[in-house]
Amino acid sequence: MIEIPGTQDAHAFRRFIIERCGEDTGACIQCGKCSAGCPVAPDMDYMPNQVMELIRLNQRERLLTAHSFWFCASCQTCTIRCPHAIDIALVMNTLRKLTLEGGYAPAEKRMPLFNRIFLDSIRKHGRVYELGMVSRFNLASGQPFKDALLGAAMMARRKIALLPHRIRHLDDIKSIFAKYKKYM
Ligand code: SF4
Ligand code: SF4
Repeated sequence: MIEIPGTQDAHAFRRFIIERCGEDTGACIQCGKCSAGCPVAPDMDYMPNQVMELIRLNQRERLLTAHSFWFCASCQTCTIRCPHAIDIALVMNTLRKLTLEGGYAPAEKRMPLFNRIFLDSIRKHGRVYELGMVSRFNLASGQPFKDALLGAAMMARRKIALLPHRIRHLDDIKSIFAKYKKYM
């Protein structure tokens, strides 16, 4: 478990974020362009520009127990729109990692579970095996029959397959996972 700086130094958390991902949220001018373009901002407790401000204000506890970054889809819209070229999507991802590494209970408990199962599916098949992934996620999250009727209808229309398909060059995928293991 990593030690995340506390509140004794007013800039500790901002500096720590710079150390971890190279992005200085102190450059934010609160123009709000990131939040205006974010497709999931309405579902966030703190919108992207507010996340930047909370980092600047050293609000570590408030942020690492927030829901916002768990909803982030890493679509990069905010990053592209930022006039100060802050990689906001990267900051969101860094906050997710810090939550887990710092031993905080994720505000969205099912998101880390989904991420892990999604990556397992890619690692094993080289692509998503939808039925296996959803079944595993439903079981692990205590809702075994969630969307079962919808899944059956999709299978009947051949939108999802009963059995997994592996890609041809699975070794390439495995080597990518091996290379980036420390980031997962
Ligand atoms: S990367 Fe995340 S925070 Fe940025 S616009 Fe997309 S969903 Fe919103
Ligand atoms: S777009 Fe950039 S400068 Fe504007 S509020 Fe968002 S992070 Fe701050």
